Amino acid sequence: MPENLDPQYRRDPVTGRWVIIAPIRSLRPLTLAHSKPHARTGAGHAHCPLCEGAEANTPNEVYAIRDANSTPNGPGWQLRVVPNKFPAVHPLGEPVYLSEGAGDLFDSLPGFGEHELLIECPHHEVTPIALSDPEMTQVLTAYRERILALGGNPLYEYATIFKNIGAEAGASLAHLHSQIIATPVVPEAVRNELEMSRAYYDRRRRCVFCDILREEHTERHRVVAESASFIAICPFAPRFAYETWVLPKSHDSRYEAQTDTQYAELASLLKQTLGKLDTVLAEPAMNYYLHTSPLRSANLRYYHWHFEIVPRIARQAGFEWGSGCFINAVAPEKAAADLRAAKPPPIEAALGL
Ligand SMILES: [Zn+2]
Ligand SMILES: [Zn+2]
Ligand SMILES: [Zn+2]
Repeated sequence: MPENLDPQYRRDPVTGRWVIIAPIRSLRPLTLAHSKPHARTGAGHAHCPLCEGAEANTPNEVYAIRDANSTPNGPGWQLRVVPNKFPAVHPLGEPVYLSEGAGDLFDSLPGFGEHELLIECPHHEVTPIALSDPEMTQVLTAYRERILALGGNPLYEYATIFKNIGAEAGASLAHLHSQIIATPVVPEAVRNELEMSRAYYDRRRRCVFCDILREEHTERHRVVAESASFIAICPFAPRFAYETWVLPKSHDSRYEAQTDTQYAELASLLKQTLGKLDTVLAEPAMNYYLHTSPLRSANLRYYHWHFEIVPRIARQAGFEWGSGCFINAVAPEKAAADLRAAKPPPIEAALGL
């Protein structure tokens, strides 16, 4: 039987858990050697399909910040968003919805959605702290622009924004980029957070994240860094060693509702936090992702947007896979103390020059 490359959502009949089967992902080029667990070098620079001048290697841009006299899909840009050439989901066909419990034994749906690549800079950088503050601010405001643009399509319920840094964290290309996947359903991780924080709100009439921030601000054992409007903390029950969350201090469930000044402030704190992780963990592979409310939401009283940063310094083992329960070898109080004390490395060191 010839292999069908069309993506598909499939529901596990035992647990009800959805997965995406996307065989086309196996065809994408890999410029980071997966045998090197912490590869953060400029590997693959010569053949990098994301560098300025290589625009012909990517599908046509859907958003860009570029010089006034430049032309789309040519050089002269600071940031580009393009459809992923090897998408996990694609906007073909129509989304189909299944009501809970109404499905067959083997439920599957077309892999409907949009998968975008956000190329963060024209020059070949491989570590986020090499971006200038204005460049990082542009990345954060581009996240807002894509949330708003994808939210304009009523078929999409959620846009997951995430970043893989290093091969061990799932990156296949070294050049700094983020990814965005818009789906017709709210992904399970966010749905769980929404449900649990709503239950907390129903009991106490307060946002659980605001309560956490109040506590952490008083105790200070797990605070990593803070600015006027944002704070970085190691959460009370982290799955991963040195897991760090970055949150706004005042309540808002919508990432896209921040002001330009706030994105600039967030860029600086995010860079500082990522730099501290680089110092303490010697430039680890990392993921970060945004948890925010579903597309087109009003400001929800019970939910609070945040970034979660997860360094990938330990592989998940049989217990984690078998039980769903994570074993974390570093208490968050120690992780926060280490990170608080650390200075971000100089940029030259981060670039490996
Ligand atoms: Zn590049
Ligand atoms: Zn809150
Ligand atoms: Zn979260």
